[in-house]
Amino acid sequence: EVRVRFAPSPTGALHIGGVRTALYNFLFARKMGGKFLLRIEDTDQTRFVSGAEAYIKDALEWLNISPDESPWSPGNCGPYRQSERKPMYMQYALDLVEKGHAYYAFDTSEELDAMRERLTAARVVSPQYNTITRTQMKNSLTLPEDEVKARLASGDPYVIRIKIPRKEEVRLNDMIRGWVMVHSNTLDDKVLMKSDGMPTYHLANIVDDHLMGITHVIRGEEWLPSAPLHVLLYRYFGWEDSMPQFAHLPLLLKPDGNGKLSKRDADKHGFPVFPMDWADPNSGDKAIGFKEAGYLPDAFLNFLAFLGWNPGDHRELFTLDELVDAFSVERIGKSGTKFDINKAKWFNEQYLRSKTDQELSRYLIADVEKDGLSVSEDKAAKIVAIMKERATFPADLWKEGKFMLIAPQKFDEAVASKKWNQEAITVLSTYKEKLANLNESITAESAKALLEESAAVHDIKFGKVMQAVRLAVTGVGAGPDLMAVFEIIGKEELISRISYALD
Ligand code: GLU
Repeated sequence: EVRVRFAPSPTGALHIGGVRTALYNFLFARKMGGKFLLRIEDTDQTRFVSGAEAYIKDALEWLNISPDESPWSPGNCGPYRQSERKPMYMQYALDLVEKGHAYYAFDTSEELDAMRERLTAARVVSPQYNTITRTQMKNSLTLPEDEVKARLASGDPYVIRIKIPRKEEVRLNDMIRGWVMVHSNTLDDKVLMKSDGMPTYHLANIVDDHLMGITHVIRGEEWLPSAPLHVLLYRYFGWEDSMPQFAHLPLLLKPDGNGKLSKRDADKHGFPVFPMDWADPNSGDKAIGFKEAGYLPDAFLNFLAFLGWNPGDHRELFTLDELVDAFSVERIGKSGTKFDINKAKWFNEQYLRSKTDQELSRYLIADVEKDGLSVSEDKAAKIVAIMKERATFPADLWKEGKFMLIAPQKFDEAVASKKWNQEAITVLSTYKEKLANLNESITAESAKALLEESAAVHDIKFGKVMQAVRLAVTGVGAGPDLMAVFEIIGKEELISRISYALD
């Protein structure tokens, strides 16, 4: 059975790259008829941010991609928070020590600093604790056995490091990148167990993936450099046969393609890069979310799916079920994907238009009421019907459609100076009279017929005064189909607006 996991660290708001990772894991699990797990990787307590876990949960719920197993819906592999699994890890680290693949290291932070300084002075580019330098440090490979025993017995602080082999080619077959080869002399002896008894990410991640039966690791490209170390860990634990397959997802790039997308880009351009609003309890940092910015969850998901994947044909609009159907890891690209907020808006427009007028009128009614006004359901649906083609977000329906319920007090000067003339005044006066003489309410058709007549009697071309008529009734020079607007506004209101404009 396919089992995949999303393993976020609760260090802040889940950014868009994280949600994409979650989505691809979800899609893969559904496609393969497997399970989607979520594990909270909180071994680094110094970076823990309260509220981050709840944020992750809410964001996935909003998008309808909640995990099958998680801290809040546990399966048989719990606990699903690493901090709660703490007692399990030490035995695995000790197992590696026993097998000769890991060792105790007693170096103080001063000694580590001194080592780095020495290497920097000798122009070593990236000073590391590795196969070479470890020989000069205080660890169970260099110290006499008695001393190591004594130090451990006396409670001297220590870490456990992996013993990277000196000359070895480490390979892995990434589902997206193909064969990746790294020479072990570029790897360092990473700490597996910290002096406080907490495992590092590397140890905990591999132990948990193994214990949770993970078959595929789908994660961001930033973890590719760690993958060779992970391969070695699987080998040293004797778990090579059940090692998961890796798929490292391409980076998300800035809109101009120059470098990784960051929160700074979001602030600079005023677009969201987080699923939901977030206020960091520590830094006070605020971020706007797609949700609050007015993106519909299905539109955002569709946009997200295309940040690195494509179906291989021209189709762009996919429901979640259709995504599951079409998804394959083979169709994920290797190179970074540019983040294009206009594409996100485009998706939102498509989804907005696909909603029924009734569904969308809920947004409009709520916004109207927030402004202290009221509108009937019937009228709201009519307003939505003509506004939705022009809206990107649900809030636009009212923002751009206010003139339907509120008569203009001012008129766009630029339009007025060009279009407001004697011909317009003549036609509008006649139109007003004809409307007043009408016994029934107006429709878009009758409103148009009357307006055409009003122009024709003065031998004026209807098209010439159209913009002035729009200006008189709506206050601006452009907008949705004017005759449909007239039908919604209704005869009485139309007459009163024209009177006001003619005054
Ligand atoms: N805890 C890591 C993160 O925050 C997980 C990386 C992985 O999926 O292995 O992204």
